[in-house]
Amino acid sequence: MYDYDLLVVGSANADLVIGVERRPGAGETVLGSDLAVHPGGKGANQAVAAARLGARTALLARVGDDAHGGLLLDSQRSAGVDTAGVLVGGAPTGVALITVDPSGDNSIVVSPGANGRLTPADVRAAAGLVRASRVVSAQLEIPLESVVEAVRALAEGSRFVLNPSPPRPLPDEVLAACDPLIVNEHEAKVILGDTAAGGTPDDWARALLARGPRSVVVTLGAEGALVASARGTARIAAVRVDAVDTTGAGDAFTAALAWRLGTGAPLAEAAAYAAQVGAVAVTRRGAQASFPTAAEVDAL
Ligand code: ADP
Repeated sequence: MYDYDLLVVGSANADLVIGVERRPGAGETVLGSDLAVHPGGKGANQAVAAARLGARTALLARVGDDAHGGLLLDSQRSAGVDTAGVLVGGAPTGVALITVDPSGDNSIVVSPGANGRLTPADVRAAAGLVRASRVVSAQLEIPLESVVEAVRALAEGSRFVLNPSPPRPLPDEVLAACDPLIVNEHEAKVILGDTAAGGTPDDWARALLARGPRSVVVTLGAEGALVASARGTARIAAVRVDAVDTTGAGDAFTAALAWRLGTGAPLAEAAAYAAQVGAVAVTRRGAQASFPTAAEVDAL
């Protein structure tokens, strides 16, 4: 009945990474390592993660008419993502300029570029794609108004999943559509504001639920996750692994959760599966390069 198990409406960035001994101050130049260029952006990451698990996945995004856009389209297609909804042009492809120092700390400058030009009119024009998708997943690296438009285009009976990253206050119309709203600790605190002070993850989950979502998931890194709905809250244990790189773990978790919910899995069951996917992702370096296939998750 649906053409796609999951449509991701979101960002696509080229991550440009250079290792440095130390960061330059104003007016200073330092030498760094060879440049590494990786496909990234939360939308592109989620789409690759879902497709690698076997979900019929499409991406609605905008990239520039440039080499970075080509890199992103190639990485989506080789993962099996349908890229008919990826618009090209209007601005350079979004870029994250990342310096990594010897202790592993990152400094990042993001140029949203084409991501900022994915307009509500673009989403309206792709309403057929939205309606053809059982689950629609979004993040906030594209204009919020475009996310609102995706919510308005949802088919009756389809499901909307939001990871509000980078976090900002959300309109009631978007909150009410979320099933679930997926946040980490930082995102929970920004969205709840002062009411989050001193609370526990259980408190945040309940407070977020009171804002209108049908369900809420709070991810807690190596502590696993917490799911909350009108049925109550449940703790989802993390899988114990030796983490080497947590980049993209949240995107892998969200994509896996969205896909499993679309197959009819109850929230806690889908979150337990997503925790396995996130656990595999943290045992490997990189974002998209770390995402497992379903067989690799089963082997865990
Ligand atoms: P984000 O990257 O958005 O902050 P988290 O760090 O909470 O998200 O990671 C998402 C999920 O990935 C977690 O809920 C957990 O299931 C899994 N995960 C993350 N870090 C680890 C870890 N060190 N060990 C096991 N699982 C992890």
